[in-house]
Amino acid sequence: MKNDKKYKKNCEVCNKTIDVDIYKQGKCPFCGWWNCFLNEENPDIIAIPNLISLNKAKHLFSEGKPFEPNLDEFIEALHGYSEMQFAYNGIYYAVELVYDENKELKIRLYNSHTKEKTFFKGDNDFKNNAKIGDEYIKDVWKQTTDRFWLQ
Ligand SMILES: [Zn+2]
Repeated sequence: MKNDKKYKKNCEVCNKTIDVDIYKQGKCPFCGWWNCFLNEENPDIIAIPNLISLNKAKHLFSEGKPFEPNLDEFIEALHGYSEMQFAYNGIYYAVELVYDENKELKIRLYNSHTKEKTFFKGDNDFKNNAKIGDEYIKDVWKQTTDRFWLQ
């Protein structure tokens, strides 16, 4: 039997000693950062399972702010995870990468309450034009919650 908790390292963000697995991966119980070699080798990219880059996390940590993605980071993470979610006013929305019948990549916004699906041509189309009711998502992003990947 392998004991996953026998490895220790210092959290990349808060520097406290944490338990990690054999691959030196693990979630920090102090600051919440998921320590992962992919992020450590590429501190400016968003790598599974985090939603922001390591450098952004360090910056937010130094300011005492939570590790929440802005809309650009959410969209960047979408390309890594293919399927993301967020909630707004108690309703969950799924954001997915899908291929249409012409095999073109689209971003689909799915309202779990109304079951309505809206398609966008790409990152900029989604970022600038995606709406919830009469409100642009980019304008209300700070009020969204439960941003996470779905797979
Ligand atoms: Zn930490």
